[in-house]
This record gives sequence, C-alpha cells and structure tokens, in this order.
Amino acid sequence: MKKDTLIRVVVMVVALLAASYLANILTPMQKEISIEKGELTKAPIAGLHKIMADVAWMRFINVAGGMDTIDTKNVDKISAMLEKIIAYDPNFEEMYQSGVLCMSNADPKKAIEFLKKACDNEYLKNNSKLPFNAGFLLSRTIVDQNDPNNILSKPDYTQAAKYFRMAMQRSSQPEPYVVSSYIRAKAKAKAEADKKIDEYYATLSVLYDEWKASKKGSFEGTIVETSSIPDLESRLLKAAQNAKNPVDYDGNPIKPLPESLALIAKVQQEVLADNHLCPNCITPTPAGAKFCTSCGTKVAVWGTCKTCQKVLTGGNYCADCGTKNK
Ligand SMILES: [Zn+2]
Ligand SMILES: [Zn+2]
Repeated sequence: MKKDTLIRVVVMVVALLAASYLANILTPMQKEISIEKGELTKAPIAGLHKIMADVAWMRFINVAGGMDTIDTKNVDKISAMLEKIIAYDPNFEEMYQSGVLCMSNADPKKAIEFLKKACDNEYLKNNSKLPFNAGFLLSRTIVDQNDPNNILSKPDYTQAAKYFRMAMQRSSQPEPYVVSSYIRAKAKAKAEADKKIDEYYATLSVLYDEWKASKKGSFEGTIVETSSIPDLESRLLKAAQNAKNPVDYDGNPIKPLPESLALIAKVQQEVLADNHLCPNCITPTPAGAKFCTSCGTKVAVWGTCKTCQKVLTGGNYCADCGTKNK
C-alpha cells in the first residue's frame, strides 16, 4: 500500500517535471510566459502555466516543509515563492488558502495583501474561507516572534468587518463563528470611533441596526444583505443582557451606560416584546409568572385566562373554565 503511494508520487513528479521541461523547450515564445511578464494567463499554450504552477507549488511545499520555522528572517524567500506560483496561475486556490497561512505570522501585511487579491479574484468568488482568513488577520495584533516589541500588524476592525461580511455572503448558511466575528469586528470599529460608548453598547447597536435593516428589506420586498444573519433575535437578547450587566476587564460588575439602558429599552419594546422579558435582568419570563425566576423582580403576568387567571395551555378556550381567550 505504502509502496503504491510512493510509486504514484514518483510517477506524478516525473510527469510534472517532464511536462515543465517540455514546456520550456517546446514554446519558442518562452519569454512571454516568463513570470517577469506577468501575463501568464494569456500564455499561448493553454494549461501549461498551470503545470508550471503545480511544479512551483511542490517546490514550495518542499522548501517550507524543510524549514524549522518561518519568521521575519526567512519569510521573504517564502513570499517570493508564493508570488511565483500566482504569477504562473493567479487562480491557484491552495496557495491562497494554505500557502498564505504558512507565512501570515511572519509577514501578516504581505499575507493580507495576498488574501485581498484572492478575494477580488472572480474565479475564486465562491470561496468563503479566503475572506474569513483576511478578516481574521485584519482583526489581530501580530508581533515578531523573535522580538515582541516589533509589532508587525495592528487590527483594522473596519476592514476586518468588511471581509467577514464577504465570508458570510459567500456561504448560503454562514457558520455562527463567522457571524460572531463579523459582529465583534463591527462593534470594535464602532467603539473605537466613538469614545463615549463601550463595546456592550456598540455590539447591541450593531445588532439593532442589522435588525432594522432586515425589517426594512422585507418590508420593501427586496433582498437585503443582512438577511444572511441567522438567529438575529437571540443574538440581540444576549447582547441586551450583557449590556445590562456589564463587567470590567477583571470580571467585576460595573454600572451600565445610560446610552445602553435607553437602547435596551428600545430593543425590548421593538424587537423582543414577544419574549416577555424581565425589566431588570432581561430574562424571558414564563406564562403566569408574577416574579422573575432569575432575579425576583415583579413582572407583568402574561398567558393567563382573563376570567380565572389560570395559565392557558393552548387553543382558543381556557381548559379550566371554558372562557374564550382569543
Ligand atoms: Zn429578572
Ligand atoms: Zn379560565
């Protein structure tokens, strides 16, 4: 079994080398497909540049695999090899996906540049991992592993949010972590731009804006980009609870901002009215409850018969006294 695999690999390598060798001698227009020209997609022999890219990719795997670590000292060699691959084949998906991740800690700016290029590539427009990776790198502080004082890149949350959004739009059902990353980046950008607010308020307001936009979209009968946010209401509920009970960096409770309290009330009324929330801790209250089971605050009773006050069990009539309640 192992021997078979080995033989197959050897045959493939020989075939690829032979093909690239043939490529070199067969075309009299060799110069035109040299990487300096950067015009390889227009190469006269179709498919040949793809084989060249494959060969360059295998060489890259060999070199990168043989390195103990990729850091600021040797990363230029790695990015030059990656440049060469996309010069042969600008649509080389694997290079943008795993190739770029190999060097993203050593030269994050270059890695982001590669990924942005990949995101603009029409041919790769259905790949949602590429914009996610771009957003991921854009939302982090990355330092030189040999010198912690040397900051290689700082977060750009506005840009990060843009790429996370792109990742969401490219998947029919975006993963919850992609949606969370988008909301976090957008909230961080908002909190950075306005010193009067904190991240609790920013998160709640980002979600509330998304909710308003989605309502507007469905009202006008057009498809809105926000329709791709799943479980928006439960995210709003969670954000409202967090904004009501904020904590500092050490986890100690702090007072919520007045702006947060005003927005929480608005969200409770406009979005979460059906959840019958406790006005104090924003926890949904069960039918018939007079007090919140989480914090003991008196709450408005709902879901009971108007005549006998027993909890309604469904249908149109009270199961206890027969009064019509709907
Ligand atoms: Zn409560
Ligand atoms: Zn009744």
